Amino acid sequence: MENLPATKDKPLDFIRQIIADDLKTGKHAHPVTRFPPEPNGYLHIGHAKSICLNFGIGEENNSPCHLRFDDTNPTKEEDVYVNSIKEDVAWLGFDWQENLFYASDYFDQLHDYAVELIKMGKAYVCDLSGEQIREYRGTLTEPGRESPCRNRSVEENLDLFARMRNGEFDNGTHVLRAKIDMSSPNIKMRDPVLYRIMKHPHHRTGDTWCIYPMYDFTHCLSDAIEEITHSLCTLEFEDHRPLYDWVLETLQTPCHPRQIEFARLNLTYTVMSKRKLLKLVEGNHVEGWDDPRMLTISGLRRRGYTPASIRQFCDTIGIGKRESWIDMGVLENAIREDLNDKAPRTMAILDPLKVIIDNYPDDLVEEVEAKNHPQNPDMGTRTLPFSREIYIERSDFMEDPPRKFFRLGPGREVRLRYGYYITFASMVKDERTGEILELHCTYDPESKGGSSPDGRKVKGTIHWVSAKHALTCQVRLYDRLFLVENPESDKEKEFLEHINPESIITLENCKAEPALANLALGSCVQFERQGYFCVDTKDSQPGQPVFNRTVTLRNSWSKMQM
Ligand code: ATP
Ligand code: MG
Repeated sequence: MENLPATKDKPLDFIRQIIADDLKTGKHAHPVTRFPPEPNGYLHIGHAKSICLNFGIGEENNSPCHLRFDDTNPTKEEDVYVNSIKEDVAWLGFDWQENLFYASDYFDQLHDYAVELIKMGKAYVCDLSGEQIREYRGTLTEPGRESPCRNRSVEENLDLFARMRNGEFDNGTHVLRAKIDMSSPNIKMRDPVLYRIMKHPHHRTGDTWCIYPMYDFTHCLSDAIEEITHSLCTLEFEDHRPLYDWVLETLQTPCHPRQIEFARLNLTYTVMSKRKLLKLVEGNHVEGWDDPRMLTISGLRRRGYTPASIRQFCDTIGIGKRESWIDMGVLENAIREDLNDKAPRTMAILDPLKVIIDNYPDDLVEEVEAKNHPQNPDMGTRTLPFSREIYIERSDFMEDPPRKFFRLGPGREVRLRYGYYITFASMVKDERTGEILELHCTYDPESKGGSSPDGRKVKGTIHWVSAKHALTCQVRLYDRLFLVENPESDKEKEFLEHINPESIITLENCKAEPALANLALGSCVQFERQGYFCVDTKDSQPGQPVFNRTVTLRNSWSKMQM
């Protein structure tokens, strides 16, 4: 793995502390964890937190971490999601080795466990409709009522369950329920549903089954079958834990993993749930699951985030038991810091203004040397062509500049980075619109490389590219997808109404230094003074890259709020 910071001196989070204690007391020889996604969507940055926790514990202890697909709802699950999830976990730098599992691998075993529960008198087939079951369940303040089917004989239950399995009944007509306690203060314990009829082909088991086990029955047993030691999940599963334990205790499984809950990642300026991400995709508010504005792993990858930056982010936010919100700036800072070290510096003009250097020979082309990283000489240098006509950033010239504007203006001299000192001479305007079409300047031949010929100082240094050598390219300025910190908490407006209309600005006519034409797909560079950009993996053509802005050089959002 690239460049991961040492985390050794940090105090252990509460989960790693529990594990360390279990190893010390000899309860376990080594931990076995798992990451259990449901293949019904793409992974997002919240999942990365869980992946880094589970696989991180595996790496730290040189012990296995399983990748297990929790595929018990065939109507929503697809192989494309399975493949994207595998790709994303591997891209983050984690390795499940031979430990790739599917809950659907256990359908036979789970069925046998269900039969065993029926035989023990601990499960029954119920004929109430979904709506009736909800109605009978009671509320937080009122106990539930027992189903009229609750006292069926074991024989009748075995027969009905077999007939459910054989496809004799329609969807929704029967379910298998655990027989626990309809007056339990924990609603999850009020005879929860264990199996339902779903006549729908499964992405792996095809038409073999028409009954499917529910999450609460599947998850604990899958953990036990795989001999997971610590089953780590988010806080909303806290009240599922008694059921998790009930199933394993009742069935006396040889292994009884310990479920431990931690706070999920909540991030400002985004939405996280797969349902909402799907809404963004299906409503064409973004260009797909891997749109660079999406906080999916595939979107972040396309945006230019590195695995190291995401892992660093997860490490920074840590693991706790209390719900909290993390500012988007923390994530952006993680990639900014990573790219600050790694990304070669380059020059590109986003909004070009042509400058003609009147006293520079017409057909001369010189090569000037530029550093690839001013703070890191190991990254070497490159040469840039310099010629009579160059482009500079339109915003680096002002016709009537204030005193503190240290760039180009009438009567002013600036340094072209790695180039020459140039002095403003005149400008050409479109007579009709007043738009500045080009500038004329003169250069000081003694200032090659941007060094002062006679000790005279210029305050401003601006970037440039040689006009006839420049690569013309498309650049997309991406920004946060939402304008407000928490788009979901607004009771009046739907979250979609908070989309930032400027979350993508596409610039067609940018001018970049010529060597950028040959960058590999996905590679990241800094455009000096502009930000970090990566070569889009989808829309670039050979020799014709499209650049995505990964992140600006500074956080402009925090300033805006002050
Ligand atoms: P979502 O609620 O976003 O639709 P999910 O929880 O339904 O996601 P799963 O595929 O069931 O998605 O999640 C796999 C694992 O990732 C679970 O263990 C879940 O607890 C964890 N996870 C999901 N979202 C987050 C989050 N925001 N922070 C930390 N862990 C998360
Ligand atoms: Mg889930």
